[in-house]
Amino acid sequence: MKNSPDVVRLSSATKRYGSGPQTVTALDNVTTTFTRGTFTAVMGPSGSGKSTLLHCAAGLDRVSDGTVEIDGTELGGLGETALTLVRRDRVGFVFQAFNLVSALTAEQNIALPLRLAGRRPGREQLRAALAEVGLGHRATHRPSELSGGEQQRVAIARALVTRPAVLFADEPTGALDTETSRDVLALLRGIVDRHHQTVVMVTHDPAAAAYADRVLLLADGRVVDEAGPC
Ligand code: ADP
Repeated sequence: MKNSPDVVRLSSATKRYGSGPQTVTALDNVTTTFTRGTFTAVMGPSGSGKSTLLHCAAGLDRVSDGTVEIDGTELGGLGETALTLVRRDRVGFVFQAFNLVSALTAEQNIALPLRLAGRRPGREQLRAALAEVGLGHRATHRPSELSGGEQQRVAIARALVTRPAVLFADEPTGALDTETSRDVLALLRGIVDRHHQTVVMVTHDPAAAAYADRVLLLADGRVVDEAGPC
């Protein structure tokens, strides 16, 4: 249901890769929800299914069985075009490697999702998005002229500019030093607290997970432990 407190809902979500004896069950019957205005960390050893969970929950990949709902829309029933629109309009994504467009300035990078959606962003809107991540003074810098932490802030602003229902972050501090990581995590925490943004972050770092309200621990594609409010 739209406006339900559950922004993302996975029900018996299962993802298999390959077929026959080669089949890998990367996600095994996972049922969980991500509630509006909460910050969830997804942890677990390498190969436990963290990225698969994130990709399926974000509509970047389809589950083999079970269902995924984003903001009241069940993804399984959607064709590719409709799924692309859900991803574009309802989901933000931040990656370990920032993935900014090197030829564009910070401001132009942030404008990109809006332009792709056929909207013409106003300068004030873009400056406000940059100011929100503490980079009001870096609007015309290109990624090569920004530090790693600054680039990740631009990527966060870009992910949030469409006001997505949920922001997914895949090891967002994986390429950053400890101090810069803390700044980026505090920024994410602040965005959850100030704007009631829903954030789901994959991390292998317990210090990063400490910024979350809730930790989901995966092993062999299953949720094996959960700490914090559900
Ligand atoms: P994590 O993010 O926790 O390291 P992943 O979600 O990447 O784990 O992977 C979970 C399991 O699924 C692993 O066994 C991995 O080898 C397998 N896997 C992931 N993606 C693919 C793929 N595209 N094809 C085949 N197997 C995959």
